[in-house]
Amino acid sequence: MDFSFTAEQTQLRRSIIEFAERELGDAAESDRAARLNRDAWKKCAEFGITGWPVPKAYGGAGLDPVTIAVGLEALGYGCRDNGLVFALNNHLWACTVYLVEHGTEEQKARFLPGLADGSLIGAHALTEPESGSDVLGMKTTAERHGDTYVLRGTKTFISNAPVADVFLTFARTGSEDSPAAGALSAFVVTADLPGFRVSRSWEKAGLRSTEMGQVEFDECRVPAANLLGAEGNGFNLFTSSIDWERSVLFASQIGVMERVLDDCVEHVRRRRQFGKPLGAQQAVRHRIADMKVRLELARLAMYKAAWRKREGHLAPLDAAIAKLAISESHLRSMLDAVQLHGARGYLTEFGVERELRDALAGTIYGGTSEIQRDIVAGLLGVPSS
Ligand SMILES: Cc1cc2nc3c(=O)[nH]c(=O)nc-3n(C[C@H](O)[C@H](O)[C@H](O)COP(=O)(O)OP(=O)(O)OC[C@H]3O[C@@H](n4cnc5c(N)ncnc54)[C@H](O)[C@@H]3O)c2cc1C
Repeated sequence: MDFSFTAEQTQLRRSIIEFAERELGDAAESDRAARLNRDAWKKCAEFGITGWPVPKAYGGAGLDPVTIAVGLEALGYGCRDNGLVFALNNHLWACTVYLVEHGTEEQKARFLPGLADGSLIGAHALTEPESGSDVLGMKTTAERHGDTYVLRGTKTFISNAPVADVFLTFARTGSEDSPAAGALSAFVVTADLPGFRVSRSWEKAGLRSTEMGQVEFDECRVPAANLLGAEGNGFNLFTSSIDWERSVLFASQIGVMERVLDDCVEHVRRRRQFGKPLGAQQAVRHRIADMKVRLELARLAMYKAAWRKREGHLAPLDAAIAKLAISESHLRSMLDAVQLHGARGYLTEFGVERELRDALAGTIYGGTSEIQRDIVAGLLGVPSS
């Protein structure tokens, strides 16, 4: 077993941290504005990030999952605008990678170059007002008429929706009583199709610079050529590609945890109370140690899942464990960071409270913590009824 990074990965990490710290703007301003920083998006695209998992033949970098995880961890460390990083992650893991894994040659040629160079922004339209954790309960339908599918329904809480061009969309092609898993299909829906519209934006507690919206499919005619995979195979696509969202997507949160830990160490070394540094108090030292332990365990879980993906395996158990461990650890450690900074942790001026707000959503999106626990128990053979 070898835990070291290659020379290229080490160099990638260094160059991304340097790039992100230098170029990626004012996180507090993006948070206040609740807007995607388009200039920073463009810089990330020029740096190649939007094309990391895309094969070179389609304009990407064709990086392997472990190297991408190294890159995203570094991005999370170097970039304080967590919403920007989340927008990039959605683009990569909830849209682009589906086309990489399941697209036909024609679909790849049509969509991947634009997604890779960042001129197209990707989004993932799965959740509905009445279907959140219960994915198979979705109501949006897609009915075939000749060489088009007519989509009807509403998708909500869609990251990037107000700014996205390409929506990886799930809809029901089978009837209400078809066997659940064979009833769904996946479509590549572009924002310019008639009958498609973003009907509202949502304001959020955290990750505010990832814009979020609700989209309507009102007799939206989608070319049959935009069906991804076979009709009725949507749930299989979802279960095979969601691994990415539950593992590599969370690499950036590892970077955030490390950056915030470094800030906390610096703070408890510098800040003095009762005639000595805060860090001389055992309760403070132990909090720091717990943050480090959480960081390292979360990191191991994430790289193990990324390694399994690199070796070409499905990794539902590892991905669920990684998602659960990282998101819960991240949230717990951001609460610790606020406590260690006292009032400065709570005031907006110092940015620590923003880290906590940004961490809140990780236990919800991509399947909640409760759903991950259910997946883990199910994969261990524990019956659910
Ligand atoms: C920041 C953010 C970004 C998002 N981005 C996207 C996106 O880009 N695309 C998209 O499609 N969706 C997106 N979502 C939606 C997200 O996937 C859903 O919020 C999530 O799946 C949970 O669904 P829900 O909010 O309807 O909660 P519900 O399903 O109503 O769950 C509410 C609570 O009940 C619990 N619960 C539900 N069922 C069970 C069960 N069987 N066992 C135990 N507990 C259960 C849940 O764990 C949760 O605690 C995003 C959400 C957030 C917060």
